[in-house]
Amino acid sequence: MPKRSIGTILREHAGLNPDHAVSPNTEEIRPRTEGAQVGVSVCPYCAVGCSQLVYHKDGTVLSIEGNYESFINGGTLCPKGSATYGLVVNPRRVTTVKYRRPGSDHWEEVSLEWAMERIAQLVKETRDQTFVHQTPDGKTVNRTTGIAHLGGATLDNEENYVIKKLFTAGLGMVYVENQARI
Ligand code: SF4
Repeated sequence: MPKRSIGTILREHAGLNPDHAVSPNTEEIRPRTEGAQVGVSVCPYCAVGCSQLVYHKDGTVLSIEGNYESFINGGTLCPKGSATYGLVVNPRRVTTVKYRRPGSDHWEEVSLEWAMERIAQLVKETRDQTFVHQTPDGKTVNRTTGIAHLGGATLDNEENYVIKKLFTAGLGMVYVENQARI
């Protein structure tokens, strides 16, 4: 008589098919990405530029995983990149504009329109006051050193493109810095 494993014997006693080692509970479990569409993206965190697959369904992101077709990361993501889903889908994510007035000790919520207008006015005023067409020795520079921009790693490619084009070529800003350089 052929030897039988403990698992096979237990499954027989439980009335289960001994050749099919999957419990009914397990058979009912479905993949969380079942029926989802998938888009290809880039991890926002660092200059390695790992490719990601973003699974989404009905306008909701379900999962973000490493892209196995990428020659950069071959389906893997480091611990930080693996946490991208938690960056996108997070109940604690701040979604309103917080503003602290000069001299104030607390933050207030303001509308996005108000904040955008305020920033635009300050940029315009500062640029007008600090723009330099030529250095004292006659070199054309067309720049302002009165405004700086510090970007974060979660800016995406398109945002970085607009920042570079508007801030340096458009406004003449010299100090444009970013933690991530994709
Ligand atoms: S943070 Fe990690 S997953 Fe993201 S690009 Fe860098 S190495 Fe890749």
